[in-house]
Amino acid sequence: MLNLVLFGPPGAGKGTQSEYLIKKYNLVHLSTGDLLRSQIAAGTELGLRAKQLMDQGILVPDEVVIGMIESKLHENQTPATQSDASLTGGFIFDGFPRTVPQAVALDQLLGTHNTKITIMIALVVDSEELTRRLLLRGQTSGRPDDQNEELIRRRVKEYNDKTAPVADYYSQQGKFAAIDGIGEIDTIFKEICHQIDEAVER
Ligand code: AMP
Repeated sequence: MLNLVLFGPPGAGKGTQSEYLIKKYNLVHLSTGDLLRSQIAAGTELGLRAKQLMDQGILVPDEVVIGMIESKLHENQTPATQSDASLTGGFIFDGFPRTVPQAVALDQLLGTHNTKITIMIALVVDSEELTRRLLLRGQTSGRPDDQNEELIRRRVKEYNDKTAPVADYYSQQGKFAAIDGIGEIDTIFKEICHQIDEAVER
């Protein structure tokens, strides 16, 4: 089973690369940003509370996202009756974990499912390029947090302050690879696959 953490600041290309990786490795995509946006769309209380923070570019509390991931892992636990053809190849975690306590919780959760993180891959993109990409994405995505330069800079700062230490957490476990996130999508994809295949063989 391959469990991949795709890491990088907002606008680094995680969503795009996830789409390719899901197909190639038959993975289930778990994006906490997407899960939160669907809570907002459904008008749940959790969604309403999360929206207030997301609109300011601030992370939502750890227990909220950990709870969402826990229930998704549970939902996707493969029943013994399912045929082999439908077995998932694993999970791709996109936008999670974003803090060290989230990373610790994920290790514990995966442990209860008798599996673990294979590798964390970080897409590295400088903040000027991120701002350019996100403003461009904001023209079509309809995401309010992609339409305001100040908010984008706050999200990148939030990433640098709180999320970057997560890289050290995986690095200490020998499970971290950084990849240049600027360039052709296909070239970046091949490099990610190379890192995954090496980690799987280890
Ligand atoms: P994203 O779609 O991953 O860029 O996430 C959009 C927003 O959702 C972030 O700016 C945070 O406010 C919130 N969010 C998403 N994932 C997490 C997470 N793992 N921990 C805390 N907040 C999150």
